[in-house]
Amino acid sequence: MTKTLARKAVRRGKMGEKGGKGEKGGKGKFVYLFGAKTDGNGGMKPLLGGKGANLAEMCRIGLPVPPGFTITTEVCTYYYEHKRTYPAALKPQMGAGVASIERQTRKKFGDLNNPLLVSVRSGARDSMPGMMDTILNLGLNDQTVDALARKTGNPRFAWDCYRRFVQMYGDVVLGVQKRAGEDHEPFETAIEGLKHERYHQDIEDTKLTVEDLKELVTRFKALVKERVGREFPSSPWDQLMGAVGAVFGSWMNDRAIVYRRKYNIPTEWGTAVNVQAMVYGNTGDKSGSGVAFTRNPANGEKEFYGEFLINAQGEDVVAGVRTPEPVVELKKQMPKAYAELERIRQTLEKHFKDVQDFEFTIEDGVVYMLQTRNGKRTAMAALKFSMDMCREKLIDWKTAVMRNPADQFEQLLAPVFDVREVKSAKAIATGLPAGPGAASGQIYLNADRAVAAAEKGQPVLLVRVETSPEDLRGMIAAEGILTARGGVSSHAALVARQMGKVCVCGASAIEVDYATRKVSVDGQTFAEGDWMSIDGTAGKVYAGRVKAAPSEIVAGLINNDEAAKKTEKFRSFQQLMKWCDQATRMGVRTNADTPEQAANAIAFGAQGIGLCRTEHMFFEGDRIDAMREMILAETLEERKAALAKLLPYQRDDFAGIFRVLNGHPATIRFLDPPLHEFLPQTEHQQADLAKKLGVPVSRIHSRVEQLHEFNPMLGFRGCRLGIGYPEISAMQARAVFEAAAIVQKEGIKVHPEIMIPLVGFKKELDLQLDAVHQAAREVQAERKVKLNYMVGTMIEIPRGALMADEIAQSAEFFSFGTNDLTQTALGMSRDDSGSFLPQYAELEIIKKNPFATIDVAGVGQLVDIAVKRGRATRKDLKLGICGEHGGDPDSVRFFHQVGLDYVSCSPYRVPVARLAAAQAALTSKM
Ligand code: PEP
Ligand code: MG
Repeated sequence: MTKTLARKAVRRGKMGEKGGKGEKGGKGKFVYLFGAKTDGNGGMKPLLGGKGANLAEMCRIGLPVPPGFTITTEVCTYYYEHKRTYPAALKPQMGAGVASIERQTRKKFGDLNNPLLVSVRSGARDSMPGMMDTILNLGLNDQTVDALARKTGNPRFAWDCYRRFVQMYGDVVLGVQKRAGEDHEPFETAIEGLKHERYHQDIEDTKLTVEDLKELVTRFKALVKERVGREFPSSPWDQLMGAVGAVFGSWMNDRAIVYRRKYNIPTEWGTAVNVQAMVYGNTGDKSGSGVAFTRNPANGEKEFYGEFLINAQGEDVVAGVRTPEPVVELKKQMPKAYAELERIRQTLEKHFKDVQDFEFTIEDGVVYMLQTRNGKRTAMAALKFSMDMCREKLIDWKTAVMRNPADQFEQLLAPVFDVREVKSAKAIATGLPAGPGAASGQIYLNADRAVAAAEKGQPVLLVRVETSPEDLRGMIAAEGILTARGGVSSHAALVARQMGKVCVCGASAIEVDYATRKVSVDGQTFAEGDWMSIDGTAGKVYAGRVKAAPSEIVAGLINNDEAAKKTEKFRSFQQLMKWCDQATRMGVRTNADTPEQAANAIAFGAQGIGLCRTEHMFFEGDRIDAMREMILAETLEERKAALAKLLPYQRDDFAGIFRVLNGHPATIRFLDPPLHEFLPQTEHQQADLAKKLGVPVSRIHSRVEQLHEFNPMLGFRGCRLGIGYPEISAMQARAVFEAAAIVQKEGIKVHPEIMIPLVGFKKELDLQLDAVHQAAREVQAERKVKLNYMVGTMIEIPRGALMADEIAQSAEFFSFGTNDLTQTALGMSRDDSGSFLPQYAELEIIKKNPFATIDVAGVGQLVDIAVKRGRATRKDLKLGICGEHGGDPDSVRFFHQVGLDYVSCSPYRVPVARLAAAQAALTSKM
């Protein structure tokens, strides 16, 4: 076959036509040709699958594609809906397809002079690399193999093809695979057996002679007969129909199901099947097979990147039987083929306007294209591609924004493990990738010892069964946090993200023994001070030390490192963020409780604080003691005295935050958590506190008992606390306004937005409003200032959402607390859902963790209702969201659609949210 055959007479079709699935049932067009006549195009991925559509598109732009046809995804759907049978029209249409290939190649299927061989490959709408099955060299039998040998004058090649075919077909179609308890594939065992019998060593496959290959075919067929109980099919048409059935069957194999689940690919999509004339990379030293990217998908460099094997068929490259060579080596070995590949590389990018990942075969020096698709890439590469291609005018800036996958974007900010080092390290456990990046440190199992070690200059990894607010100091001191229990909205995950700490949580294989201060995992025991490493991007845990360095973006923005600012990565990031701001409608704020966190978030582009959890401010240093005193107080006077001690702390904190914000708004939420969380739980801690406060232990003990709740998440928390003890809210309001007055007098604009949590009734909010306005009046009079402030509420329980019209009469803004809204709408404890959610995902009851990605269908309705009802009452009601979902790209898209004004997320997720918000805006305009 010559390449001109495939290029001939292809007229340019419009991409995008006939994109959807069309007619179902027994009639219709099920087979689409590509080659000299091409029925499909690149826009028809739903119907032809990614591979089929792009094969058609490559034909249309004159690239050398061996002719073939695509059986549509509709046939896959039909197959499963009709007890694994085909529509009646399929076989005749396939007959016409085969005839068309025969005409173009001047070969005949099953012919005894010049036999046509075909490949049969799957091709889903979205590529599912390696997930489904492929069969090559189909059409060979004991007769056609001789014909192929004669025709090519190359018996070794013919028998090599036959050997490969029987092996692949036996494995994929007839299911001759390794059984339980076997370590090796049975066909590979047969090959090894023959090599050792005849050569007494493990020689390369290319060294096998014709006689060896013939013997292998005989043994393979005997193996098939023994395992399957029938002869290997010799009729090419029987082979073809069997292979098509196997490809459709593979849509439901375990690998494919797991992959679909991970990447949210709907089962209904189905796969297409591509039947294509074989071209041979295994005819000798002038042939070969390879896979390549038009640019480097790991670092984004504009270089031809890929690998090839001489005298090999495609699966050898992927299977890793032989070590391939870099594609640029072809320049020396086959300069003509290399020049053609370079031309193809340029053509592909010019046409598809994105980096392509393609498969090629060189048959006797002639290059053929077998596949192309958009290449998968790291976040780093995606950023560089988008910048370079925009500069090269291949894409515009809006497309550049869209080309950066928001769900991968956090990778850019994360410290990274040295690539070579991680290769030699062995993962000993896996958990949830809760805070991206890489961290190595000496392990400590308690916050105090972690802090002490960090103060001595040791890099520390805090390892806990789970973390609680008590561990905060240890978490701050640590390079990374590892927990054995807990999900993506567990305390460890939430705080780690907020601080930009590397974190792996819920690594259940890890046993943490606080008593012996030891961690056991994978048969190894680690004592405090031993080294471990965690990869919070992949959720992996390693023994020992793996080297890491901070990202240039963090170094430039947060550490003000001038050298980092000059790097291409940094400048590209800044350019991208600028474009995002041009495109976006929603603002992005941050969840921050300290000036430092706020400063980091502002450096990342946050436009204010969307959630300052004031309870987090009480955990530092001695404050917890004053807080405990306040909780233990038995009279109003005692409580007021304790509150008076807390007030200066709060005022200073707020002032620090206002200064850093420099005019940006700050949503300050009043105290929320269950009170017992602040009290010491162990006897030892209780005795310690009793001593400090000069009260009997029994008093502390009984107060702890008294405050104990069966269900603290639904207990005495949120505004219930401020309603029960209005003096707490009064103190907090006073601290906010005094701080505002101080900072305003320094000439800095201040916009406090006081937020009341867990409101379900308008009256709850009204009671708190009274305390807030009262404090505002007092402070303004005392300090002779006019303060600009707002008071609003969180919408985080269903009643609050449903009664939003009424609540908006009092609230000037809403911020959706989607953590609690999810918890209460689903009736699922945010802290305990880790025990059953994995099974829910497996059973596909839920598609994604609802605490990480908003449950649009359920919880989303509550948000939508609250937005509409709230705005019906108050047209200019300011609307935001500050739950963990504020940094999740899918959720951000929903918040854009539902019309929120801003999202708020932890500082290190601000860039992700900016990107996701910009993409949501661009998508809705498309
Ligand atoms: C929420 O519930 O979504 C929220 C932001 O508040 P917290 O996580 O502090 O309960
Ligand atoms: Mg909440």
